[in-house]
Amino acid sequence: MQADANTDFLIIGAGFAGLTIAERLASAGWKCVVVDRRTHIAGNARDHIDRAGVLVHGYGPHYFRSNSPKVVDYLSRFTGWHRVSYTIKSHARGRYWSFPVNLNTYEELTGKPATTAAFTAWLEQNRTPVEHPANSEEVLLSQIPRELYELFFEGYTLKQWKRHPRDLDASVCGRIPIRTNRDNRYLSEDFQALPARGYTALFENLLAATPNIELHLGIDFAEAKQRWNCRHLVYTGAIDEFYGRRFGPLPYRSLRFEHQSFTAGQLRTREPISGKPGFWQPAMQVNYPEPKVPFTRIVEIKHATGQAVDATTIVREFPKDWTPEDEPYYPVPAPDSRAIYQKYAGLAAAEPRTSFIGRLATYRYYNMDQVTAMALTEADKLLARHGTP
Ligand code: FAD
Ligand code: UDP
Repeated sequence: MQADANTDFLIIGAGFAGLTIAERLASAGWKCVVVDRRTHIAGNARDHIDRAGVLVHGYGPHYFRSNSPKVVDYLSRFTGWHRVSYTIKSHARGRYWSFPVNLNTYEELTGKPATTAAFTAWLEQNRTPVEHPANSEEVLLSQIPRELYELFFEGYTLKQWKRHPRDLDASVCGRIPIRTNRDNRYLSEDFQALPARGYTALFENLLAATPNIELHLGIDFAEAKQRWNCRHLVYTGAIDEFYGRRFGPLPYRSLRFEHQSFTAGQLRTREPISGKPGFWQPAMQVNYPEPKVPFTRIVEIKHATGQAVDATTIVREFPKDWTPEDEPYYPVPAPDSRAIYQKYAGLAAAEPRTSFIGRLATYRYYNMDQVTAMALTEADKLLARHGTP
């Protein structure tokens, strides 16, 4: 069937990957059509003001961080930043713990003041040396005693992934720092900040920066390819879906989010727990590693956004199996799923007129800055190949 219209680039997905590459190509003068099956931009990073008036992250908390000045400089064209030291807590054995594991956690465990030297010696005595940790269990046990691994990681990981840490790549739990000082920050990257007016506003500014992007929301790839002829396709959806799951479905984990809002009056009774008026819990995120709790974490993003509003909203995350009706939030980083992915990647590598970028199309557990970097690199490649119109 002949498509109705022409465009230079047809881009599937209006998240970090799709909109970054669209902006780069469009700013060079190419006509880009961007479509997304959802009815909003920003992909999983989308944020919005909820009915309580609170700025929330609709698809789970998105803490921007990066070690790449190139990525930060690029995104800074479209947003100012609200600097945040993302801090979280873990809740187990009926109490809150400093997390990620650091000297404060050790003092909470022993009930006594300690020094970095004493904590380091304790870790050294009780860890299990492994030269090349091959999975998430080994990467943790090579750094911390089994007691801390079981307290904070084993149950959380089983809930989140429905897999044991030993059946997941080392990079999954290995991304959580273990520290011997008092640094309570959840993340270690140099630049940690939220877009000052949110991610959706960032992408609205990006779209306003060039007239060459035509955006169509609520449209699926299947429909888009009937509607537009293009010289090149950029696909940021799930790669197994693109190929009709011919090698079998790739595994994904999904989530159910439960939002709950509280007025200033309702929050008064929480002050002994949250430690300050207007908040429900003592940190932006509290992790619940114990198997008896059905959710993995509660996020109160107002701690991080700094929004001046009396109400607050908390979001509980319940992990679930992915079915075709769910969003495929997480690729599963493990040898068995990678083997399936490699088959799809083999097909993708043989497509000269299609680029596969982003978290779903490359089946990588990538953060927003990594996806932005990938999109910038692919844009450079395409511009080198196609030049400017
Ligand atoms: P997406 O944001 O998923 O965008 C892809 C878009 O393509 C989607 O909008 C989708 O609707 C659309 N699409 C897919 N298939 C089709 C199709 N067939 N037709 C039309 N449209 C289609 N990263 C961080 O850096 N920090 C964090 O704290 C962080 N927290 C996270 C928490 C959760 C719960 C999740 C799930 C992710 C988190 N991430 C975080 C990762 C972050 O969401 C991703 O790195 C980023 O959103 C990837 O951008 P993307 O464009 O590749 O994918
Ligand atoms: N993790 C854990 N306990 C925690 C926090 C993290 O076991 O309290 C493990 C878990 O397997 C999780 C992974 O580390 O999926 C990465 O955690 P992160 O908070 O980065 O996950 P994300 O925000 O991507 O869901």
